[in-house]
Amino acid sequence: MMKRTFGTWGIVAAAVAMGAVLSTATGLAQGQGRQGGAPAAAAPAQPNFDNVQIEALHVQGNIWMLTGGGFNSAISVGPDGIMVVDTMLAPLSQKLLAKIREVGGNRPIRAIINTHTHPDHVGGNPVINDAAVSVVAGNFAAQAGDRKAQIFAHENTQNRMLQLTPPIPSSAMPTDVFFTRQKQIFFNGEAVMMYHQPNAHTDGDIIVFFRRSDVIVTGDVYTNSGFPVFQKAQGGSFQGLIDAQNNIIDLTVPKEKEEGGTYVIPGHGRLGDEWDVVDYRDMNTIIRDRFQDAIKKGQTLDQVKAAGLLKDYEGRYGATAGFWTTNSFIEAVYNDLKGSAQSSAR
Ligand SMILES: [Zn+2]
Repeated sequence: MMKRTFGTWGIVAAAVAMGAVLSTATGLAQGQGRQGGAPAAAAPAQPNFDNVQIEALHVQGNIWMLTGGGFNSAISVGPDGIMVVDTMLAPLSQKLLAKIREVGGNRPIRAIINTHTHPDHVGGNPVINDAAVSVVAGNFAAQAGDRKAQIFAHENTQNRMLQLTPPIPSSAMPTDVFFTRQKQIFFNGEAVMMYHQPNAHTDGDIIVFFRRSDVIVTGDVYTNSGFPVFQKAQGGSFQGLIDAQNNIIDLTVPKEKEEGGTYVIPGHGRLGDEWDVVDYRDMNTIIRDRFQDAIKKGQTLDQVKAAGLLKDYEGRYGATAGFWTTNSFIEAVYNDLKGSAQSSAR
């Protein structure tokens, strides 16, 4: 099946692009984690996206996974039109739109969901919104102005998107935000459930569950291409990420003795099912316990680094270059867990 041919796309392009995107993200995080460490790396060379190809994979039901250059989007295609979950990085947005047209034909693009604020998930909003068709007609169309798609996001994501550079034009900002635990809409014959995941990758993450298609789009609370990323300066936390992964596992149901059942589209990486998320969640839980134990014993960051607590996972998930190296992950987890150990001891 086509599904299994997807393991090797664009790894190099992904690494280059992620470096650029995430240096933007860390820029937004205002130097978090840099104190006392190595000097900040020189700005990465402007990545070239010319050779990035976006590919489409039909997952099941209404849902397609679109992927290229290390970035993932998902679309729902059906009688109501097209809904786009995450719009990739701005330089890829014309290619993303072309692929959406290839899959969805001339069905109208009606809605966008942004899982969180980062430029590799919201950068294509202007282009996709421009191509969208408002359901508002007649006298009200003028009032809608250049707002075309309904754009859903958590309120914290909307607030953080206001601070992005380059700025997202107001016409491509979220139009429908929520601050409650969840939001539900009905689109293409199925419930679309958006669940807020507090203090995980950021403070505005949502996972999107297409209930009849049985597919979850996770954003960056689940990324199986590397160690998990959380931005403390943007409200993220390691425990929040683990909680979010447990919430995904609560929603997924595996097919009897086979791959499949509920499918999971990660923020970065390959399509997974429940087993993949369980495996990843287990790793993070084990890492948390090891770090908590080291912190309880009074170990310093340098001692933890020297102890090689991630050795058994580094081969698969580690990185020595780019924005989220194994060392930056170790620092982030250590500082985060040390901080929460201190506050709970008070
Ligand atoms: Zn992100």
